[in-house]
Amino acid sequence: FPLLQRIAGYAKSSSGAKAIIDTPKNQTITYSELVADIYALAGILAPLIQSQSQSNDEEARVVILCEKGYLVPLSMLSVWTCGGLAVPILPSLPLPEQSYMTTNSEASLIICDAKNRRRAEELVKEVENGGGRCKIEEIDLEGIRSSNKASGGPDDGVQTLEGLKGLDGERRAMMLFTSGTTGRPKGVVTRHSALAAQVSAVSEAWRWSESDHLLHVLPLNHLHGIVVALLPTLWSGATVELWEKFDGPAIWKRWINEEKQDPITMFFGVPTVYSRLIAAHSGFTPEIQGQASKASSTLRLQVSGSAPLPESVKKTWEQPGGVGGGQILLERYGMTETGIIAGTGWEVEKRIKGHVGFPLTGVEIRLWDEEAGHQITERETSGEVQVRGPPITKEYWRLPEATEKEFQDGWFKTGDVGVYSSDPSAEGQLRILGRKSTDIIKSGGEKISAVEIERAILELEGMKDCAVVGVDDEEWGQVVSVCLVTSRPSVTVTDLRSELRSVIAPYKLPKKLKIYEGEIPRNNMGKVNKKKLVLEAFPPA
Ligand code: ATP
Ligand code: MG
Repeated sequence: FPLLQRIAGYAKSSSGAKAIIDTPKNQTITYSELVADIYALAGILAPLIQSQSQSNDEEARVVILCEKGYLVPLSMLSVWTCGGLAVPILPSLPLPEQSYMTTNSEASLIICDAKNRRRAEELVKEVENGGGRCKIEEIDLEGIRSSNKASGGPDDGVQTLEGLKGLDGERRAMMLFTSGTTGRPKGVVTRHSALAAQVSAVSEAWRWSESDHLLHVLPLNHLHGIVVALLPTLWSGATVELWEKFDGPAIWKRWINEEKQDPITMFFGVPTVYSRLIAAHSGFTPEIQGQASKASSTLRLQVSGSAPLPESVKKTWEQPGGVGGGQILLERYGMTETGIIAGTGWEVEKRIKGHVGFPLTGVEIRLWDEEAGHQITERETSGEVQVRGPPITKEYWRLPEATEKEFQDGWFKTGDVGVYSSDPSAEGQLRILGRKSTDIIKSGGEKISAVEIERAILELEGMKDCAVVGVDDEEWGQVVSVCLVTSRPSVTVTDLRSELRSVIAPYKLPKKLKIYEGEIPRNNMGKVNKKKLVLEAFPPA
């Protein structure tokens, strides 16, 4: 697998370079230490993984259940070195969700740290209840390193990383579960060749280099945290600084860099990360605010993705004298099944509000008119986003029917609806109108994009957060309905309608409103589960 070979290469050419900073444990791991640790852990895992893989001619699934930090990437890379399939699971998820993922993947091994040992035992019980068998390997860094000393280097069962060159790229590498925004999370299997295509495309698009230092605050169980953030860092010989969780004021302080650590050059977040950073910024004194915004402007790149970036957040961040110090956010669009599909790109002039940009290397995009059964080339005509190319997954785990349903003539059907933009400055960039299943509201025979209305609402004064949903209605089919968080003392649906009238067409105006305090409920990738929200906010009579 090219990623492992590249890491081995950096360990030789720049062995002292920092690969991973484990902030919770206050440890720095260089590329040469990383490679030594991979060999050591692979030596421990090889007999466990290889016996499993041989017995059923399929890659052994290995659940990784460790607190966010160095042990997660180390375990993942070691599993790959042994030819296993890594299934990273977030320790903070409730037991039933972890159990679903563990039993669904038919894992035969769980790698855990001491803190998650008991949880691992509970999961093993669940597997056994279903008639399966699963072992536990509890690891800690000292134990791994001392086992390496004892054995005196790479074990017999472990290939050298360079020797993995001949590894079949079609072997399965990883199973990530989708964010579960529209239903139960689906296990998406990515093969080594697809993973390499995804990771190299992102590294190239964002001009990652050995001098980059990424501040990483995302969970390590989804595409965003793993494939978009962690792996391209290692692919590029750069440094990733892993933080256990999001802490707004601490992020600003880290950017200001009073402690004179290595400066941060890159930062990625979901849109709510940026709105929370804006909130944290407002809690500082004017002097610190100035320092913080100036510090933000010195980063090489800040990216937003996983959900639509509201224009109000973008504006507050970017405007001259704005919170982000004039930093222009790059917006990217992608999904677990495909990696990053598109991004607004390198040139800041192309980072235009409401757009997600152009396809990344290796990804082909088409817009498909399902009713007419043909491809769409005209601007501003909506269709399903379909993609193909080496980065795209070939399967949902053990779901051959779902897999078949999601493909059409070799194109993967994303379930998202988009258009090519007619905005003259955007040069035909892609705009996402939302998910076919929940964001395209059918009202009175018209199709209305919930995402467009959300954008318009958030532009109004005092609007803090909103989600637009379609509520079933006898007369209209569905009606446009709004869940809203606002700082204004009283807002009615009539107010909303009259204020929106100048910016959206009359048939798109909302008919129902529900006021929320604080935030609209979101999953841990900052996404709104609209099927759930609609039932909660507008229960059927
Ligand atoms: P599930 O498939 O379980 O319902 P999910 O689709 O949210 O969950 P992910 O694969 O993590 O799981 O998310 C991919 C989806 O996120 C895309 O299909 C798209 O709807 C949305 N998305 C990602 N980036 C953007 C963006 N920049 N703008 C709008 N939507 C985005
Ligand atoms: Mg999805």
